[in-house]
Amino acid sequence: MELKKKLKPKKGLRILEYILGTILLIAIALTIFYFYERYQLTELGYSIQASNEILLKMKKSYVMEIGENKTLNAAFESSDYKEKNLDHYSKIKYQKQKHLIRNINSLIKRKYNNNEISMILSHGNDEDVTAFAKRDKVEYLEEFFTYDYAKIRNYDRYLAYMNETGEDEENTIIQVNIDLDKEPYKDPVITDDYSPKVLVTKHRKLKDGYVPKDLITIPQEYVKGEEKVKGTRIAWQNLKRMIDDAKKEGMEILVNSAYRSYKEQVKVFDLYKGLYGDEYVAKYVSTPGFSEHQTGYGFDLASAKSNVFSTTKEYDWTIKNSAKYGFVHRYPTSSESITGFSNESWHFRYVGKKIATYVYENKLVYDEYFAMFLDKEN
Ligand SMILES: [Zn+2]
Repeated sequence: MELKKKLKPKKGLRILEYILGTILLIAIALTIFYFYERYQLTELGYSIQASNEILLKMKKSYVMEIGENKTLNAAFESSDYKEKNLDHYSKIKYQKQKHLIRNINSLIKRKYNNNEISMILSHGNDEDVTAFAKRDKVEYLEEFFTYDYAKIRNYDRYLAYMNETGEDEENTIIQVNIDLDKEPYKDPVITDDYSPKVLVTKHRKLKDGYVPKDLITIPQEYVKGEEKVKGTRIAWQNLKRMIDDAKKEGMEILVNSAYRSYKEQVKVFDLYKGLYGDEYVAKYVSTPGFSEHQTGYGFDLASAKSNVFSTTKEYDWTIKNSAKYGFVHRYPTSSESITGFSNESWHFRYVGKKIATYVYENKLVYDEYFAMFLDKEN
């Protein structure tokens, strides 16, 4: 009896235990509730970091109503988050950019609407957008940036070029993107693309030491004259098929010239310069390093019967059919202002069937195709 009495806790201690127990239960319940709330957000697609911030800022029901939204997620993850811009974030198209939220805040401050901000973000990289967000609001955003290939970093150049040339927006964008507003051969873009997509122009130079990787010698029966001619394997395989198919229709197409090394181009350039002068070479002969012949994808074609290709049935046939074999007519008369070269009826360039067909059907030159679809240095 005496022992049992001793073991019974005192009344005050029991109340304390009760309180502590209750607190513990509440804590457990709250933790479960918190994890459940966060679980709902992460299930929606929000990161743990963003979900924590959403709960901390008491925006859960707001976010749940909107649902999954990458820009909103980025906003809650960012230290640049601004409560007053909350309604904008979810309506602006997400881009994976380091200073996305900071730049969105700046653009909102400059009074761009959500659509315009989405447009700006999708036409440049983080650096471009950061620079753009620092300047005052500009006009004519929509006119230019409905085109996928417009670049916000070129905005001022577009305006200047348009004023100077009177070209429409689309042509302006394409032509500025391939640097036609700059002086030829000055500060060229350097390319080391060895694929059939390589673009070489008066504004795009091949890297020093550029030699195609897969050069083969073209069988002499396909060559006009005695000289050895080389081209890239893929281009030649397709050209051979083209010439063979043309033969079945009574056409006699030969190759006059194809791959030319940098050194050979120097020789050609100097030869023609000596013979016909600066003006001629500017129009017809590429400066070394700027020649498509150095890529192994450019071919000068000829008819077996005539020395003036443009007057032959072989020429007509080639213009009509070469796209099926992956070749584009590279320097047509109609596009002299874009290519910078006068009509070269004989010069065809391998780019692959898909691109060649698109270029042919849409009456483009390859420079334009490149600016529209391949120029990824956004
Ligand atoms: Zn040529």
